[in-house]
Amino acid sequence: MKKIIAFVSSLDEYSNSLWLKQLNNIFRNYEIILFNDLEKKDYKLVEVAIVANPQIKDLKELKNLIWVQSLWAGVEKLLIDAKNNSFDISRMIDEDMSEVMSDSVLAWSLYLYKDMPLYKKQQNLLLWKEHEVLEKNKLRIGILGLGKLGMASALKLQSNNFNVQAWSRSQKKIKGIKTYIGNDGLETLLKETDILISLLPLSKETENLLSAEKLQLLKKSASVINFSRAKIFDYEALEVLLETKHLKHAVLDVFYEEPLNKESSLWKNENITILPHISAPTNRKTASKIAYKNIDDYFCKNINPLFVDKTKGY
Ligand code: NAP
Repeated sequence: MKKIIAFVSSLDEYSNSLWLKQLNNIFRNYEIILFNDLEKKDYKLVEVAIVANPQIKDLKELKNLIWVQSLWAGVEKLLIDAKNNSFDISRMIDEDMSEVMSDSVLAWSLYLYKDMPLYKKQQNLLLWKEHEVLEKNKLRIGILGLGKLGMASALKLQSNNFNVQAWSRSQKKIKGIKTYIGNDGLETLLKETDILISLLPLSKETENLLSAEKLQLLKKSASVINFSRAKIFDYEALEVLLETKHLKHAVLDVFYEEPLNKESSLWKNENITILPHISAPTNRKTASKIAYKNIDDYFCKNINPLFVDKTKGY
């Protein structure tokens, strides 16, 4: 009898069907069953589940669950929901995602460096006006977070001749990139940054890290790119700093509530570019292969995947 892997998801029916098709293509020697289709008598057979925005009450029904494979890279909600549960969490770590994210970082950094929002505004005003361009290597890009996505992005920006500095929890050494840690390090980085890019995970420590006070430390006319999680920033303070021209532009891919409410003032702010959480979406094909490798290594070779550190919160 094939081992049952539960697919616990609160995605819509169509997305679930796409995932199930892809997973079933790869998990030939396992039986992938959507939680809602799983018979109650089989709950006890599930040791590993693949999850996409799972309802915690569903996971709690699986009494023998040892670990879950998330299809997403960010697992902050799952970590909170699963606080009092013993199962471990493996998040999606995918080189394809790092490549896609670093492309997004490069693209939107160039968008800001090339003053595209300003030229769009000028076009709306039928205004023909040239602006001086800062030498590329004089523009400082500050990256928060040097993990899978932050590191790939920092290296891509560096190879495109941007001047990169970065901040992480533990000290890193990267040739040609100034690295910082701690609160003092963060403040120094902010004061020297023209384009700030967040690639931090949301945790107790990073929630509201970019508060009004911290955002004010950014250089005058600096811009912000948030490709991580909204709650890391105070968006109200960000809007005030954009209105008062302390900051130039913000590219936001993530919001407190998604989809972004049509009433939100962020939509109408010409100094904000809104993206619908697309900087690095999970790739169904590569993610399914990674989930398979993690699960098959666990059952056939007794190898645990890399679990999220519940105490650090990422
Ligand atoms: P990761 O590999 O876990 O890296 C996290 C980085 O943040 C590490 O460098 C870590 O420092 C640093 N960090 C964490 N807490 C910190 C703190 N309190 N102070 C300073 N640095 C801290 O994560 P990742 O795979 O790069 O992903 C980062 C985030 O991107 C995810 O959590 C998710 O929220 C977001 N994301 C967004 C999208 C999108 O489409 N918008 C897609 C995928 C992921 P150390 O290196 O010292 O541990």
